[in-house]
Amino acid sequence: MIHIAAPALRDFVAAIFEKAGCSAAESARIGHYLVSANLSGHDSHGVVRVPRYVQMKHDGAVVADRELERVVDTPVIAVVDGRFGFGQTVAPAATRIGIEKCKASGLSAVALRNAGHIGRVGDFAEMAAAEGLVSVHFVNAAGSVLVAPFGGVERRFSTAPYCVGVPRPGQSPLVLDFATSVVAEGKVLVASQGGKPVPEDALIGPDGRTGNDPHMLYGPYEPLGPRDHRQGEGAIRAFGDHKGSGLAMMCELLGGALSGTGATAPDRPFANGMLSIFLDPARIDPSLMFGGEVLRYVDYVKSSRPAEPGGEVLMPGEVEERYRAQRQREGCPLPDDTWQSIVACARSVGVPQSAVPAVR
Ligand code: NAD
Repeated sequence: MIHIAAPALRDFVAAIFEKAGCSAAESARIGHYLVSANLSGHDSHGVVRVPRYVQMKHDGAVVADRELERVVDTPVIAVVDGRFGFGQTVAPAATRIGIEKCKASGLSAVALRNAGHIGRVGDFAEMAAAEGLVSVHFVNAAGSVLVAPFGGVERRFSTAPYCVGVPRPGQSPLVLDFATSVVAEGKVLVASQGGKPVPEDALIGPDGRTGNDPHMLYGPYEPLGPRDHRQGEGAIRAFGDHKGSGLAMMCELLGGALSGTGATAPDRPFANGMLSIFLDPARIDPSLMFGGEVLRYVDYVKSSRPAEPGGEVLMPGEVEERYRAQRQREGCPLPDDTWQSIVACARSVGVPQSAVPAVR
């Protein structure tokens, strides 16, 4: 395991994408959002993705420096096409449109279609919460057929994340942000590179047996080689039995079908679709009860007696906040394999050895 300071990691990732053909501004955004995922403790959506993003750029599956195309534009609705641009460019641009419309009207909905991988969805809920807005995000990943529905063994869903952000007066927002699978695919990727193993029942084989061996998802692979989920015979399981499986279905229909990306199917190219709904509490609740109620209710819920000695009740977003404080202080930990594959990727696009940052 190595440790690297967040600013150095951000700059290194940005240098890789500049060499790979993205503008300086887009490269900096990719560095910012990937490192933000690492800082939040979601290594699965962090810099581990660098070689895969570079490969996708090389293959033309994702396109540098795309601007959004506005397909529908009313005072409260926008449908925007990311045209397979980097998610780190098109998702914040779509979120900005939703925030502006919501501030003007009290409510807005933005459907983003055909986005490159948008990474950690919580970043966009945090963006809205920073402006005092509640947001709800339904996301799918068309073309990334990974998850078996409740009662089935064959893959039908993507890991289809769901996210809700609620601003909290004077404090960081509550951010509920998770894949509707037992684990996000990136967590299996991290496990396959020597990182934290996924839970023992996270995956299901074609025979209906559960397990946690990443080969169930990726088939055979070399330690430093690429992982291709199309090579494995197994699936990730939907979380929460019929309830999680039902939520995944809604993410596919709202984030995928309604956004115009399309619900997940094996013959579609990879694209994230995201339907985001923004609400301005100040317009819905002119008596301004909401903020105080959020604070009161958080305290009330957290005061529940811990189930285990020394345990505590945590709020959505609290784990990430703690990771951020720790990793900003101590640097981001990365498994050796992950670091080596990023350095190898940097070399492959022409980043000089002198630009590889020192690590602990
Ligand atoms: P996860 O299982 O770690 O769950 C995270 C959520 O649970 C957070 O809201 C967190 O605050 C909360 N949480 C964690 N521990 C808690 C505790 N002890 N008590 C109370 N709440 C707790 O997340 P995941 O499913 O592995 O997803 C990881 C990331 O992957 C997310 O940011 C998601 O947006 C992202 N993702 C993206 C895509 C994509 O296609 N772009 C697909 C899937 C997932």
